[in-house]
This record gives sequence, structure tokens and C-alpha cells, in this order.
Amino acid sequence: VNAPASEFALIDRHFRRPVQHADVRVGIGDDAAVIAPTPGAELAVSVDMLVEGRHFMAGADPKALGHKALAVNLSDLAAMGARPRFALLAGALPEPDEAWLDAFMQGFRALAQRHDVELIGGDTTSGPRNLCVTVIGELPAGAAITRAGARAGDDIYVSGTLGAAALAVAAARGNVALADADRDRLRARLDRPEPRVGLGLGLRGVASAALDVSDGLTGDLAHILEASGCGATLEWARLPADPAIAARLDGPDRALALRCLLAGGDDYELCFTAPAHSRASIAALSHALDVACTRVGVIDAGDALAVVDRDGAPLQPLPRAFDHFA
Ligand code: ADP
Ligand code: MG
Repeated sequence: VNAPASEFALIDRHFRRPVQHADVRVGIGDDAAVIAPTPGAELAVSVDMLVEGRHFMAGADPKALGHKALAVNLSDLAAMGARPRFALLAGALPEPDEAWLDAFMQGFRALAQRHDVELIGGDTTSGPRNLCVTVIGELPAGAAITRAGARAGDDIYVSGTLGAAALAVAAARGNVALADADRDRLRARLDRPEPRVGLGLGLRGVASAALDVSDGLTGDLAHILEASGCGATLEWARLPADPAIAARLDGPDRALALRCLLAGGDDYELCFTAPAHSRASIAALSHALDVACTRVGVIDAGDALAVVDRDGAPLQPLPRAFDHFA
């Protein structure tokens, strides 16, 4: 097991498995995978890259990383309402570390299995550690939930809770001290995000627009507003704050807590809009899936995002969303 491995031995040991789905006509081992799309289906395709030193620290737990590399991609498919089907994995590794790869693939495969996703190809190269996952999902024709469908009067919702991942990052940087009771939960939100695949599927035909909150709510919601040509008012006090965030909103860490809540990345919750007549179906969906869906604001005919407190007074200054090049 510890003998130096060739690229092809690594592929055979860690990536290649018997084909699982009949519509994978050619899987790992040829020059390209061949898949037979479901008749009438459209494909949703997304790719995300995790770079060491940027998205994760050197020495990060490889199993959690395998989970997260796939999870962030499944989250993108969820935001489109697509059913995940296939994945490709391109990885650069500084050395052929089999124990590392084994743990990485354990995390990757456990999540893939839960969503019945088949790994159909990839690329393996040496270089600074970098993991790049492509996912392919299926949708009934015309059913994709895009960012462009929000209309004035629509409600704005957020799934789950916000701010936990950003608070975990702040703690890792030594900017805030966490209670023992919070540490593991917050760290798990950062390291092992749970893509809202079931919610995305349930929102087909219900949500008018959706995206996943990867860079921070205000910045991400602004993408919906821009694509849909509308404005919005967000009531920040209604946001589903993680309890550790909520506890900090009235104290010395208030600025940090607000930043985590409104502009913290990495939560991978869904932010979506829907007309008011969908409230009952969304409540039923939320109940059936046991995923909170909180109404946090309303779309309007303007072109700006206002974040207000309970009395409608604007929150200023607005914390900014994460931007790799800002
Ligand atoms: P080529 O040189 O023709 O591009 P490769 O030698 O890179 O092919 O890959 C051989 C096979 O192994 C291909 O089917 C490719 O998709 C698969 N593969 C390589 N690396 C990975 C990986 N990290 N995960 C999944 N499949 C992989
Ligand atoms: Mg190759």
C-alpha cells in the first residue's frame, strides 16, 4: 500500500469502480465518459474548485474535504432544482498520498451515495493541492429555478440557519472565542455543509428564483435582484440566525455577528423567492423535509436592496459579501 503509486494505479484504486447506473454507458477508464440522458430531461452542470490556502487550510481533514468538495457542487444543483446524477473529480496533489486520498474519497463517496451520484470521470495530476468537482444533474425540460424569476410582491425565504460557518472561520482566526457547547456544531457547519438537495427538488414549480448562499446573503440576494430586475427589502431581525450568532447580536460582538449573518459565506443554505400564494406549500414542504424555511423579506419593483430593522429603519453600513478579487 505504501509503494509509490503511478497516476494509473491511483485512478484504479481510488476512483474507478464498477458502473452503477445503466445510463452510464462508459464510465471511468476511457477517454471520456458516455452518458445517455433521460428522454425529455435537461442537464444542469456546475463546477467548483477548492484551492488549498484559499478555501481550506493546509492540513485540513481530508475526509471532511471530500465531503465539502462534492457538497458545494450539489448545493449549486439544489439551487436550480436539479436532481444530482453524475460527478467528475479533477485533483492536483503534491504527492501520491494514498492515506490522504483514501480519506478524501471516503468523505466524497459517503455524500455521493446518499444522493445516488455516480463518479464518472476526472483527472489526476501532481501540483499544489486543488480539488475541482463537476456535477451533472437532471431536470424536467423548462423546470430549472433560475435567479431571474423573482417578481415584485414575492416573498423572500432562507432555509436552515445563517452565520454559523462564518463564525467558525472567525473563531479559527482568533477573532472570537466560542463556548465549548457551540464549537463542534459551528465547525461542522463550515467543514461538512449539508446541500439542500431535497428542498431544491421540492421548490420546482414553487419558487420563482433561487440560489445557494455561498458568499453571504446580501451579496447573493443582490444577484437575484440583478438577474430579475427588481429590488427587495430584507428584515434582518427575521433572519434565521444560528443560536451562537443570535446570542451575539446584542453585545460587544454585534458587528461581527451581523457580518456573519448578512455577509458570511459558506452556509450553503438556499435563498429563494415565491409568490405569496405559495406560503402554504412552502410551509408543508419545510415540515415534510424538516428544513426550516423562514420568510425574511419581500421583493419590490425598485432596483436596490434595503436591509431594515423591525421598525423599517435601514441598517447602515451594510456588511459586504465575500469577493475573491475585491
Ligand atoms: P486521459 O489522459 O485520456 O485524459 P486519464 O489518464 O487522465 O485520461 O484518465 C483515465 C481515466 O480515469 C478517465 O476515464 C478519467 O476520467 C479517469 N480519472 C482520472 N482521474 C480521476 C479522478 N480524480 N476521479 C475520477 N476519475 C478519474
Ligand atoms: Mg489526463
